[in-house]
Amino acid sequence: MNYALAIHGGAGTISKQHITPDKEKEYLAVLKEAVLFGASILKSGGSSLDVVEKTVIFLEDIPLFNAGKGSVFTHHGHHEMDASIMCGQTMQAGAVAAVRNVKNPVMLSRKVMDESGFVLLVGRGAEDFAHHCALDFREDEYFFTQYRYAQWQMLKNSEVAEVDHFDNNKYGTVGAVALDNNGNLAAATSTGGLTNKKFGRVGDTSVIGAGTYANNNTCAISCTGYGEYFIRNVVAHDVSALMEYKNMTLADATDVVVHHKLKKAGGEGGLIAIDRQGNICMPFNTQGMYRGCANAKSENIQVAIY
Ligand code: ASP
Repeated sequence: MNYALAIHGGAGTISKQHITPDKEKEYLAVLKEAVLFGASILKSGGSSLDVVEKTVIFLEDIPLFNAGKGSVFTHHGHHEMDASIMCGQTMQAGAVAAVRNVKNPVMLSRKVMDESGFVLLVGRGAEDFAHHCALDFREDEYFFTQYRYAQWQMLKNSEVAEVDHFDNNKYGTVGAVALDNNGNLAAATSTGGLTNKKFGRVGDTSVIGAGTYANNNTCAISCTGYGEYFIRNVVAHDVSALMEYKNMTLADATDVVVHHKLKKAGGEGGLIAIDRQGNICMPFNTQGMYRGCANAKSENIQVAIY
C-alpha cells in the first residue's frame, strides 16, 4: 500500500491572537475528520479521483470553510462558487465557475469531466447542466453564514474584493490531493472566491493549471490564496513543469514556486501537493494555512494551522 492524502481549508493571515482556543480546536477536529474520511476510502481501495471529490464534498458541507455551504458573498449579496477536479492518470479535467445554488460545486465539476465533453462550464449554463445531471440545489439561505455576511457588510460599499482570510474571520477555499494504491494522482479544489467580488469575477480555483492540476508523471496540486496571482503565475502547472522539465523534487519545486516566484510577484497563499512516490508538501507564504495529511507509511494523521 502506498496511498497518500493532503487537504487544505484555505491560507491567509491566520494568527493565534485572532483565533480562540475553542475555534482552533474546532478547526483541527474538522480537518482531522476530513483526513480520516478520505484516508479510509483510500485504504479500502478507492481511487484518488473519488477520494478528492468526496473529501472536498465533505469540506463543502462544513460552513467553517469558504466553499459550498458557508461561501462568501459577492458584491450583489449572492454566492457564486468555483470548483475543479483533475485526474492525473487520464489528464482529464472538469471545472465550473460562478455557479449559484448548486449544493456541491465539486460534484458538478466531476460531472463536467465525466459527462459533458467539455472542461469548463460557467454560470447559468453550468447550472442547467447540474439540473440535467439531477444534482442537488439549495436556496440562498442554505449558503448563509452570519460572519461572512458581516464581512460583506464591511466591504460592500467599497471597491475592495477580499480573500476570505485577510481579516479576523479567516476561513477559506478547500482542496484535496491524493495518490491511490494504483499509483494514480488526482486533485480537486472548491471555493466561494473573494468577498465582494463583482462583474462575474472567477478565480484560480476554476482554472486548470492555476488552482488545480494533476499529472501521474509528476504531482497533484490544489492551491489557495489570492487567485489573480495564481492565474498569472499558472502556479499548479508550474510546480509540475519544474518537476517534469527540470527534474526537481516536489519539495524543491513547491518551494521555488510558493516561496520565491509567487512571493516575488506579491501573491499570498499556499498549496498542497503529492508526488507519485507519495511525498507530501504543504508550503504557504502566509501566516497560516488550514491543512492536514496522512499516508500509508505512518498511521499518524497530521493537522495544523500555523
Ligand atoms: N483562490 C481563491 C480565489 O481567488 C480564494 C481562496 O483561496 O481563498 O478565488
